[in-house]
Amino acid sequence: MTQKPIIKGLTSSRPIKKIAFLDRDGVINHDSPDYIKSWPEFQFLPGSIEAVKRLTLNGFIVFIITNQSAINRGMISKKGLEYIHSRMMREIEKGGGLINDIFYCPHMPEDRCRCRKPEPGLIYMAQKAYKLDISSAVMVGDSSKDIECAVNAGCGLNVLVRTGNGNKAEETLIEKNIRPDFIAKDLYHAVNWIIPHYTNII
Ligand SMILES: [Zn+2]
Repeated sequence: MTQKPIIKGLTSSRPIKKIAFLDRDGVINHDSPDYIKSWPEFQFLPGSIEAVKRLTLNGFIVFIITNQSAINRGMISKKGLEYIHSRMMREIEKGGGLINDIFYCPHMPEDRCRCRKPEPGLIYMAQKAYKLDISSAVMVGDSSKDIECAVNAGCGLNVLVRTGNGNKAEETLIEKNIRPDFIAKDLYHAVNWIIPHYTNII
C-alpha cells in the first residue's frame, strides 16, 4: 500500500503555498465537443498522469477546477460525474500522483453563476476549504477561460497548454490583451516549467 503524502500546512496556521490548479478536459484528458459523459469516454492525454506525479513528488497540492455544464444540460448526473472523478483519481494514484480535491461548476453560461470559469468562484471555494495562499498558486488550462480565471482569482502564475483548446485560446487571449505567463505543449511540459519557480518555497 502506498502512503499518501502529508499535506503540509493543512493543520497549521500557515497558508499552503505550493498549489497547482489544473483544468480537466484538454489538460488531464482529451476534450470532446460532445462532453465527457461516462468513464469509457475519458481518455488520459499522454504524459498527464506523470505530470501530476511530478507535482505531487515536488510537494504541490493539486486541485482540479473544471466547468462541467453537462450536468445542468442534463447529459450526466452529479453521481455520474463523481464516478468518473473517482476512477480518474484512482488511475492518477496508481501512477504515483495525488489529486487533493476537485471543484466543479455544474452551471450553464446562462445560469450566470459565480463559479463557472472565467469567474474565480471555484478557486475561492478551494481557498476557503484548504486555507490556501492563492497569490502563490499556479493555474494550468487549455482555454482562455482558465487563464482569465487565474487572473481574476489572483493566482501568481498561469500556464496555457496547447492540448485541447490551446490554439484557439491563444487567439482569444491576444484579442483580450492577456498574456499567459507561459505556453506549454502539454501538462508535462507545463510542470517542467512550473517546478523551478517554487524551489525556495516549502
Ligand atoms: Zn457555476
